[in-house]
Amino acid sequence: MTKRVVLIGHPVAHSLSGAMQQAAFDHLGLDATYELWDKTPAELSEAVAELRTEGFLGANVTIPHKERVVPHVDKVTEEAHATGAVNTITKEGKKLVGHNTDVPGFKVALDKLVGRQKMPRHAVVLGAGGGARAVVHSLIREGFQRVIVFNRRLHRGEAMVKHFSRSAAHMDLRAMPWHESIIEAELSKTKVLVNATSIGLLADETPIPGEILTPDLLVLDLIYSHTRLLREAEKAGCATSDGGAMLLNQGAAAFTLWTGQAAPLDEMQAALEAARAGGVTSAEGEPGVAEAAEPAEPAGA
Ligand code: NDP
Repeated sequence: MTKRVVLIGHPVAHSLSGAMQQAAFDHLGLDATYELWDKTPAELSEAVAELRTEGFLGANVTIPHKERVVPHVDKVTEEAHATGAVNTITKEGKKLVGHNTDVPGFKVALDKLVGRQKMPRHAVVLGAGGGARAVVHSLIREGFQRVIVFNRRLHRGEAMVKHFSRSAAHMDLRAMPWHESIIEAELSKTKVLVNATSIGLLADETPIPGEILTPDLLVLDLIYSHTRLLREAEKAGCATSDGGAMLLNQGAAAFTLWTGQAAPLDEMQAALEAARAGGVTSAEGEPGVAEAAEPAEPAGA
């Protein structure tokens, strides 16, 4: 029987994950399909319940359900618990297990960017949404000693810092108000800058001006494209990386969880690039055009 994996999100129409995961199944000759399920929040519970029936290997979960899905699974891994978000579901019999593969996905991307240098200990993170949570959890686990979070709505940044207060008790994790001068002062003391906002996703905008970037910064943008932030960082002499490595590696980790097999990274990367070149615009974690155009939701929504 053909095995099924589904992506549950809203909207999901142009998911890059579909191309990437189907290419992986096909390359390894697995009789499996990756289906896109567009489900509203009201339909989420029923959709997740269906995964318990025969034939499903599991699922990916994306915006806007990553946090909402947590109470619908039977158990969660340490990463999913720590971030409060699930992006991958596997099955143990009829039981559903929630994972967060954005965490290992970000770790691979960070390791690649740092390369042979010593892992830095200070970082600035822009944003406090689901992506930022995976980033901050990874940085805490990686042994960072000082992580400063800037978010447009300060209270959401503060809520995220509070969420991690126990695991970050040994270090300096704090949220600061989004003022260019404060960001500039922090950047002069840091080595890693991560953009986990969606600024630059749909328009050629940058969260911070290039003039405040110093040449020794390592700049990672979670957005899977050559954003203005990255272009300006390169101009300033920084090493940079886009969200491609994170996207690929969160997908690879999910693939291995469903199939027990090593993910064919080259084929998945090629499928991602082909889909991107063909105009597919929605990566996991990236709001679709319609959603991104909606006004910001209040914190905790
Ligand atoms: P969320 O919607 O949860 O968070 C969006 C973040 O962007 C919030 O911090 C929000 O601030 C901020 N933001 C949005 N618009 C503006 C603006 N105009 N000015 C200032 N801040 C703004 O999204 P995610 O965390 O899931 O995703 C964030 C980005 O990370 C997306 O671009 C997504 O593509 C990327 N991502 C990439 C992944 C990958 O695998 N490469 C994985 C996960 C995410 P506020 O709280 O004030 O609204």
